[in-house]
Amino acid sequence: SGDFDGVRAVVTGGASGIGLATARMLSRRGARVVCLDLNDQVEAPLSGVRADVSDDGSVRAAVAAAVEHLGGLDVLVNNAGIGAQGTVEDNEDAEWHRVFDVNVVGMVRVARAALPHLRSSPAAAIVNTCSIAATAGLPQRALYSATKGAVLALTRAMAADHLAEGIRVCCVNPGTAHTPWIDRLLSKADDPDAELAALAARQPTGRLVTADEVAAAICYLAGPHAGATTGTDLAVDGGMSGL
Ligand code: NAD
Repeated sequence: SGDFDGVRAVVTGGASGIGLATARMLSRRGARVVCLDLNDQVEAPLSGVRADVSDDGSVRAAVAAAVEHLGGLDVLVNNAGIGAQGTVEDNEDAEWHRVFDVNVVGMVRVARAALPHLRSSPAAAIVNTCSIAATAGLPQRALYSATKGAVLALTRAMAADHLAEGIRVCCVNPGTAHTPWIDRLLSKADDPDAELAALAARQPTGRLVTADEVAAAICYLAGPHAGATTGTDLAVDGGMSGL
């Protein structure tokens, strides 16, 4: 228990990585948490509801089930996302639509279903998981970066639209965070350990960001100490964007 006592939270992509770390942290600090994910298997005391953020019917049903279970909604962590590699020449339209549908429209769908409930909360907040890719100009990440640039713009626009309703909207920009996502990428390398060491060496801090460090930033932005903070993005990137 703690600073999230009584808070009712939904975390998308909450079955793995940053989302799971955030769900656990919110729960430890007193919140009741429902994870919306393709994978609905989560440990107690978290609850899991299956949802595909690329399917509006699935999102509506899952948010309704989560709100029913929680008795309302105070915090939405819009975190589900997928990767994409390559330059603009490497992916055809169908792949652009598929990744935008999850990373951008997915967040829109969940927010649209959640907003009517957030309006009834005394301390409503949405935190979107963006990325340093939104502004960094990373090579071989044109599609992924474009989706995260859209998430950054969406965050600021939603903050303006919902300010008067008392709903804060912020995002976190993780650098390379050591989650199952990164492990999946590393497992494709000839020497995963050497690849991980090389990745760490490219970070200003010499190590990857942890999922817990991103979760702590999400909890800050979602929580009672961030009442004066909306429309802002918080980098958790080992100094990558600031140095
Ligand atoms: P992860 O793959 O470990 O977890 C992502 C979760 O999202 C999984 O549980 C997956 O089942 C779920 N998911 C994927 N597609 C979904 C869909 N259509 N509907 C519902 N759930 C879906 O990844 P992670 O590293 O924890 O990434 C979480 C977020 O953080 C993503 O938005 C990602 O873009 C962002 N991010 C990650 C990093 C990093 O280095 N790991 C860096 C910057 C931003």
